Parts: sequence; C-alpha cells; structure tokens
Amino acid sequence: MELTKIFGSNVFNDKVMKERLPKEIYKALKETIEKDIPLRPDVADVVANTMKDWAIEKGATHYTHWFQPLTGITAEKHDSFISPADDGSVMLEFSGKQLIQGEPDASSFPSGGLRTTFEARGYTAWDCTSPAFLKEDESGNVTLTIPTAFYSYNGEALDKKTPLLRSMTAVSKQALRVLKALGNTVSTKVTSTVGPEQEYFLVDKKFYLERIDLMLAGRTIFGAPAPKGQELEDQYFGAIKDRVSAYMHDLNTELWKMGIMSKTQHNEVAPAQYEMAPIFATTNIATDHNQLVMETMQKVALRHDLVCLLHEKPYAGINGSGKHNNWSLSTEDGINLLEPGHTPAENVQFLLFLSALLKAVDTHADILRATCAHAANDHRLGANEAPPAIISIFMGEELTDIMEKLAKGEKISIKGAQFVHVGVDTLPEIPKDNTDRNRTSPFAFTGNKFEFRTVGSSQSISGPNVALNTIAAEALDEIATRLEKAKDKNAEAAAIIRETYKKHSRVIFNGNNYAEEWVKEAEKRGLPNVTNSVDALKAFITDKALKLFGKYEVLSHKELHSRYDIYVEHYSKQINIEALAAIDMVRKQFVPAGIEYATFLADSISSFSAVSVAASVQEDLLKKLAGLLTSSYKNLAKLEAALAKAQGTDGTVKKAEAYRDKVITAMQALRTDIDSLEMVVPRDMWPVPTYTELLFKL
Ligand code: ADP
Ligand code: MG
Repeated sequence: MELTKIFGSNVFNDKVMKERLPKEIYKALKETIEKDIPLRPDVADVVANTMKDWAIEKGATHYTHWFQPLTGITAEKHDSFISPADDGSVMLEFSGKQLIQGEPDASSFPSGGLRTTFEARGYTAWDCTSPAFLKEDESGNVTLTIPTAFYSYNGEALDKKTPLLRSMTAVSKQALRVLKALGNTVSTKVTSTVGPEQEYFLVDKKFYLERIDLMLAGRTIFGAPAPKGQELEDQYFGAIKDRVSAYMHDLNTELWKMGIMSKTQHNEVAPAQYEMAPIFATTNIATDHNQLVMETMQKVALRHDLVCLLHEKPYAGINGSGKHNNWSLSTEDGINLLEPGHTPAENVQFLLFLSALLKAVDTHADILRATCAHAANDHRLGANEAPPAIISIFMGEELTDIMEKLAKGEKISIKGAQFVHVGVDTLPEIPKDNTDRNRTSPFAFTGNKFEFRTVGSSQSISGPNVALNTIAAEALDEIATRLEKAKDKNAEAAAIIRETYKKHSRVIFNGNNYAEEWVKEAEKRGLPNVTNSVDALKAFITDKALKLFGKYEVLSHKELHSRYDIYVEHYSKQINIEALAAIDMVRKQFVPAGIEYATFLADSISSFSAVSVAASVQEDLLKKLAGLLTSSYKNLAKLEAALAKAQGTDGTVKKAEAYRDKVITAMQALRTDIDSLEMVVPRDMWPVPTYTELLFKL
C-alpha cells in the first residue's frame, strides 16, 4: 500500500477540484469556501456534475446529505443517481440543487419542541467548507457523502453543525478586531483549530454479545473487578498486540482514504484501552472527521470480531475514556494566536489572547462543564484519573509567574529571559517550550494550544467547541473594544492583561486536580463543582448563557431551550435503558444462576448427610448465597419501584432528577449484591463473561 496514494483518495478535495473543474468555476467555489460568498446556482450545477462523474468513476451509485442531528451521531439518507430517461432506461443525474439543499423528514429527530410550532420539514444545506467524500462499506458499496447543516423550516438549527459554523464566524470576527487594533492589517480570517484525541476500548465480540448491558447501554452495569486492573502500569504505551495492530492498520487505511489525518496510536492506561490522535484541522472539519472516526472505529472493529466501546466508562474501577479536545486560534496565513512569539509585539498579542481565554473560561466555566454533561460522563469525571467536574486552567508555573508579576507591576526576571521595552511596560521573552505538562487539568495550556480534557469519548466535539469559540469571541470583543478606543495601545494592552489576571486568576490551578484538597480549595475560590449532568445542563439556560449565545448569534433563546430539553430528556432515557437492562439481567440471568448454585449446594449437603459426612463448606456457602439472593431480590424490587416512580414523574427536569436520585442509587445497591454474588457462584454457572474475560482475553 502506498500511503500517499491512499491518503485522501476518497475525498473531493482541492486537488481534485482544481484538476476537474473549469478554472472560473473552481475560482468561484474557492471564494465561497474561503470568503463565505454565496454560491451561484450555475456554479453549483457544474460542481455537482463534476462531483457525480468523479464519484461514479470510483464506483458510487448513491449520494447522501450527511448531517449531525442532536442525537450526537450522524444521519444519512441515500438517493441513487438514477433518473428516468425518455426511452424507459435511466440516466445518472445530480444537479446543483440536489447538491446544495436536501429535505429529509425532520419529524423523527429530536427537535426539543422547535418542530411543533412550525412545520415538520427539515432542510439540509451543503457545507462546502468541509469536503465531500466517498463512504465505502465492506461489500464495496460506495456513497457520495455531502457534509450538510440541518435546520428547520424557520431556519432554526436542528443539528450540531449549524451553531458550530456560526461560532466560528463569531470568533473570527472578534479575533480579527483585536489583531487589527494591534496593527495587523494582513490577516482576513481567524479559524479555530482542533485536534481531538480519541480514546476507546476494544472487546472480543463473542463476549460483548453475551452482555446485555454492554450491548444496550454501552457499559457494564454489573461486574466484579478482575484480579488485575491497571496497577502494574503495563498497558500504557505497551507493545501493541498483533490482533489490535491489525485492527489499527485497517482503521487507519479507512480513515486515510477519507482524508482523515490519523497520526498517533497507542495503548492507553486501562487494560484493553487505546487511543488515536489525528493531526489538528479547522474545527468544522475536525468535528466532521471525529464523527467519522467514531463511526469507522466501530465499523472496522466488527471486521476483526471485535467491538469498539466509545462509552466514557465501560468498566467500573479502571480508567474511563475521554476525548482531549486540543483547541487554538489561527489566522488564515498561519499564525497560531496562542503561540508565544519572538518579539515583544508578538508577545503582547499572545498575552492578550491568553487573557481572553482566562476571562472566558472563568466567566463561563459552567457552560464548558455543561457541554460535557451526559449520563455516561458522570461516571468518568472525578473518578480514576479523569479530571474532576471543576473547570480550572493549567497555565504552567512560568507563565503564571509572568502573568502574576505583570499584574502586580513587578519586574520580571525569569531564567535567561530578556527584558524588552513595550510602550510603558516591560515584557520578557516568553518561554516557548512549555514542556511542563500537567495531565490532571481539565483545561491545560500546552505551549501553543489549550487541551480541554473534560470532553467525553462518545460525545460530539461540536458542543464544547461551540462554547469555546463563543466565549472566546465575547472576551475578544471586549478586548477589541478597549483597544480600538485607546490612544496608547500598548499601555491599554498591558492594562487589560493586568486587570484580567487580577479578576480571573482564581481559575488557574497548576497542582494536582485529582487530589481531594483541590475540591476544597476550589470551593474556597468559588469555582463551581457540579458533579451531575442534570444540574450541569442548567448552565445552558441561565440569563448569562442566553445573552452570550444570543449576542453572537450562535444559538437563539429558543434553540438553547430546545437543546436543554433534549439533553435532559436524553439523560432520563439513558438511565431508563440502563435500569431496564439491569432488571432484565438480574431477573433472567443472575437470580436464576444464584438459585442454580444454591440448589446444587443443597443437593450436595443432602448427599453428604446421607453418608454421614459433614457438609460445613457447602452449608457456609449456601448461607452466604441465600443472604445475597435475598438482598438482591429486595434491591431488585426497590429498583423496579424507583423506576416506576421516575417513569411516572411529570416534568422533564423533575423526571431526570428522579432518575438521578432514586434510580441510579437503586442500581448501585443492586450492583453491590450482584457483584458479590458473582464472587461466590462458580464461573461455569455465571451467565455472563466476567471482567477478566472482557478486559484481558483480547
Ligand atoms: P499530547 O502530548 O497531548 O499527545 P500532541 O502534541 O501530540 O500532544 O498533540 C495532541 C493533539 O493536539 C494532536 O491532535 C495535535 O494535532 C493537536 N494540535 C497541535 N497543535 C494544535 C493547534 N494549534 N490547534 C489545535 N490542535 C493542535
Ligand atoms: Mg493530550
């Protein structure tokens, strides 16, 4: 396989467009892509036709508008290219209109009430900033896939892409104002860039298929710990097993074909846990690609008789999976705005952007937290080497020291750093190599980007990036306004940096985020620590959030409310599935298994006593078993009652609270009994694969 030939071979990318489109059409399309100029219908027709020919040459029979509804996964409806000809045969057609707009029935996607007020119709619109590509399945079916935004009849967003595109426009506009105020007249666009590191677990398919909880809820609801966990630290960066390596190879090939820059792969901390990191891209493309990464990971796993688990916490007691969302801002001419520079002017710019993020994250920590709030991530945050639910920033000692001294107006002297006169203020050269890594922070500055680690492995990265872009836009807006008005820009810049640090440095924490003391310290500092999704999601509908997203035209009040409702409802639905799966397994698998073993013991006791031999071991085991069975059965009834009550609770939020406070608690109590039961019942009588099999037999 020749890697360079394979890479992007299924993408209608710039190279293909340049080769195949007439010059003036190519130019017009590029203008639309780069400068947000509306696409002319005649241009669309030519592009569509060229796209169709290219796709058909590569074996495509269908096309689809591919979109990202609020389910968090993607949706597609395929149409073949055929259209009837006069002589009864078919022609292959794909018009500009079909490329630009589609009209899927929106009624089966969550809309949070947006639909009821208007028509059920939804529209998909081509997002030409993310290239069209071919999706191939194992049997050789090829589909021309067109990334699209999905919105209602009234133009309200029904998806994850629309607000993302809006937030990118917002942050570009405000960042440019700051740059312009600082004298940059060259840059015309600022894009947010993202590199999402994707963690996942693999499990043998035959074990997976025997676990109702894994199949239906994505995680083990029961399971006693295996004798071995991750304590030997022998998995992280360990040699990759052949079976896994074969999987990764196939995965990479599929991703590369679709133009996804799969770069790094390694074993993660927990047994059977792995990671793939791509090279970063524009947020919009990175988000599309991450959806494809998740989908392809699951698809390719099946070919290897494996199942890829993207859940944040498939197994209790060991690490969960996150998605480190590396984020930065960059000009179209390639300046990373979070990269310390060589000159004082560059460093003023850097410190201003850093200050913007400091203010943004402190002001809207609750919103960032909310973007990572879903039932599965609740298991992960704050447990086994995952950041807590407290949002804080890691800046590194050196950078913090610089900011601290700037704020106090003190002279700055750091190792070997030079003093440079900038207007009224002195700025040292900022250490570029911020190697001082802190792996416990939820939001770490890593030298030239921020790494948002609260994000969960299964979720779309759209939400977190919509929030990052928008809160950055707001902070940059304020900075720009001040700079534009100021006569002495440098003095004003210094004042902004100073004031921002004074006001928002409470959000900086360079220590161990996993430590219990941090929870107390954060409370003293007044930083929010919202440990459950139901409460965390409320941050989407505070006055502060409505104002923020409204002002930058990212999400209207109605859109935010609808999203909030959908997410809260989704939480209840998820816990409902888990509770039903738990009940099912206990009733049909675990209790019968316990009874079977109890019967076996009782029989054994009578056989022994028939020949007058003491059966004290059996008696002891039977007593223990009977106790666990009784307790399990009681806790099962309690769970059923709690579930019935939650199901009957009125009001979206009240219902979710019932699931959170009553159902989850009942499930936990039941798990304790069942896991103890698992420790007593012989393996050949235990009806489901154990943690040892799930985690180590790969
Ligand atoms: P780590 O030590 O966390 O593995 P890496 O340097 O390997 O860090 O980068 C992790 C991710 O960050 C990669 O996906 C990489 O492409 C991405 N990244 C690097 N620079 C940027 C940037 N300017 N904007 C967004 N993501 C970036
Ligand atoms: Mg990382």
